[in-house]
Amino acid sequence: MRVRGRAMSKWLALARSQAPVPNVPKSPKSEPSGQFGDFGNFGTALTISAEEIRASFDWIAHRLEADHARPRDVAQSDALAILRGMISNDPRLIVPQPNAWRCVICGEGGSPGLPLIPVLTPNEGEYRWLHHGCHDTYCCRQAERVDELLRAAELLCQ
Ligand SMILES: [Zn+2]
Repeated sequence: MRVRGRAMSKWLALARSQAPVPNVPKSPKSEPSGQFGDFGNFGTALTISAEEIRASFDWIAHRLEADHARPRDVAQSDALAILRGMISNDPRLIVPQPNAWRCVICGEGGSPGLPLIPVLTPNEGEYRWLHHGCHDTYCCRQAERVDELLRAAELLCQ
């Protein structure tokens, strides 16, 4: 409570000082074009290095063998499944959504009969908005991105 009171006092003091308060939107209004994940450029770049993925895989497989006495082939298979989940939930794979009023997949706006729905991201309180009918495409593209990263790390066959 004490900390909260101090924090509130800071903002109250700032407000009373009539110092200019920056007008910062809650989310960026736009992002530079040509970045990874821009609409129409979904999943064309790698954001997690193959070395990082390979090192994570080796570490997970090692722990499964050493700590859980799993045979090597089972440990490697399980490590791949665990790693797939970890990469899928990596914030670096969040697709940018320059306009929250337009579907992150098809680019169309929502309407009363076809509303945009929020999809969770690994970042708390951050969502991606898309049509219900675009959700399967969203999931498939995300899975393709993960597979692309796993292939780059030579953990999946081409
Ligand atoms: Zn859509």
